[in-house]
Amino acid sequence: MAGDSRNFFAPVRAAARRLATFGRLRTKIIVAFCALMVAGGTVTTAVVSYDLSSSLRDEARQRAHALAVTLASQLARPVADGDARTVRFLVETESEHTAFVVLVDPRGEIVQFGSSQPLARSELREIARHRRPGTVGVFGDRAVEVPATLPGNLGRVHVGISLEPALATTAAVARRVLMATGAAAVVGILGILLLASVITRPIGALMEASLRMGRGDLDATAPVTGSDELAMLARTFNDMAAQIRRRMAQSEEQRAYYERILDQMPSGVVVCDLDRRIEYASSQARQMCGAAVGSAWPDSLLGSGSSSDAPGARGEALRRIRTTPAGRTLEIAAAPMVTAGNSGSTIVTVRDVTETHELARRLQRAERLAVAGEIAAGIVHAINNPLDGVSRALDLARRSPADAQRVASMLEYALEGTARIAAVTRTLLSFARADDRKPPVQISPNLLAEEATNFVALKAEQSHVSLTTDLAPDVPGVLVDPRGIVEVLVNLLVNALDATRAGGKVVVRTLGVPDGTVEIAVADDGVGIPPELSDRIFEPFFTTKEIGRGTGLGLSVARRVVESYGGEITVDSTPGNGATFRVRLPRALQAALAEVSA
Ligand code: ADP
Repeated sequence: MAGDSRNFFAPVRAAARRLATFGRLRTKIIVAFCALMVAGGTVTTAVVSYDLSSSLRDEARQRAHALAVTLASQLARPVADGDARTVRFLVETESEHTAFVVLVDPRGEIVQFGSSQPLARSELREIARHRRPGTVGVFGDRAVEVPATLPGNLGRVHVGISLEPALATTAAVARRVLMATGAAAVVGILGILLLASVITRPIGALMEASLRMGRGDLDATAPVTGSDELAMLARTFNDMAAQIRRRMAQSEEQRAYYERILDQMPSGVVVCDLDRRIEYASSQARQMCGAAVGSAWPDSLLGSGSSSDAPGARGEALRRIRTTPAGRTLEIAAAPMVTAGNSGSTIVTVRDVTETHELARRLQRAERLAVAGEIAAGIVHAINNPLDGVSRALDLARRSPADAQRVASMLEYALEGTARIAAVTRTLLSFARADDRKPPVQISPNLLAEEATNFVALKAEQSHVSLTTDLAPDVPGVLVDPRGIVEVLVNLLVNALDATRAGGKVVVRTLGVPDGTVEIAVADDGVGIPPELSDRIFEPFFTTKEIGRGTGLGLSVARRVVESYGGEITVDSTPGNGATFRVRLPRALQAALAEVSA
């Protein structure tokens, strides 16, 4: 029942709403018109009434004057003759057509009077006192009174003419003017209602269309009727709406296009706001790490759970490798999003690196096995030769124990051989220790270069090779185990001195490189390295030195040590013109950051 009444009243309420919305303009027009009509009608009525009443008064005054003058001349003789009958006759006859007639003698005494209404004595006296034309108090403002002097100064006759007919005429005219104004107002209001509905209907439709558009209904259009200004307005509105629709469709298309690109990228993309709430997540990101728009970024994916590890919390790029419960390995990188207004958002890319990681792990294992095989072969080769010499020397010494000199030289030979075996095992030990990193310390590369140079200063002097340093004064520090890097440099210097003839020179240089690394270079002007050997020299046990002088492990150990600090070792050489070995290490700051985000 309640529902029925609601349904019943629904159109009424809708109509009332429409009226409230669209009727305002119409009401304003009608009220303004009515006010104008009332003001105009009042002024017109007042002006017409005033004009009419003053002309009617003038006319009555003229009539009274004419009657008074005529009566005065008619009364002159009977008054002079003392003919009271004629006097009374004339006065009474005249008073029948007028309001009153009063005859007074030269002293002002009333001689005769006649009136259409009964007059009191006081009223008669008041009339008798008048000497000029005017209105008469007894009749109020409703009569004019004009006196005329009888010829021969025999007295005055006062004639009063009633203004009532004039007042009635004026009132009737005013009524008619008012009625005409009222009728005009009604016709005007009807006209205005018609006009207002003609004007307000399209305005209302336009307004409704703009309200719908404001609420997000982009299909809203305003009806266009005719070709007047309102129709033009509606057409402009429709054009504008069409343009907005086109723009919206374009931007929607663009959004879908970019979303498709992002969805088809192998990496997932997530955008987080300042509060780490997910604003956007591509389908890959949703699949890979369950990132859902509106939810909070899961700390476990990028950080250790503390908020400072969350994406962009420190305004810097972060990179993490995480394993999902499903066993997938994800590489997650976060960086502040670069926008014009610096929104504080963070862009996170998620890459599934499970296969790559597995492949890298297998390769590493294969490489390690290969290296182990090579090392084993090298060890056999490096130890076998001196061991063979030792056993032969001992055998010879055993065969001729009587020849003391021979025995002594054979023992000397055997000792030399064991010393070489010891050297090989020492180098092997340092090769094995290359992975056994001590905690790094921040140190100036110049100090490392100086210490290594001091180590080999004696050897340089004995070889008659000039050994100098060229160290940049403000070279940044590096984060390394000093012992390991000094060993590397000593190795490079020994090689350089071995390759340089007497009179040659070896220089150790340090400098900061703009790419954020620090370089320590060992340059010599010795024999140089043929291009085909420049890669092989880093292989374990590769040596061109004569048996007993080189193990072929120095450069391979050096490469492993340098790479373990995130650096690299390279060589430049022109055969016959010397070689330059360059050790590049990350600056301490970069190394510390890499350490943190590793
Ligand atoms: P070893 O010094 O025991 O031979 P290394 O690994 O240190 O082993 O060096 C490998 C080889 O690289 C050397 O035998 C030599 O042929 C070459 N090499 C190293 N440094 C230089 C250099 N400065 N000039 C010419 N050749 C060099």
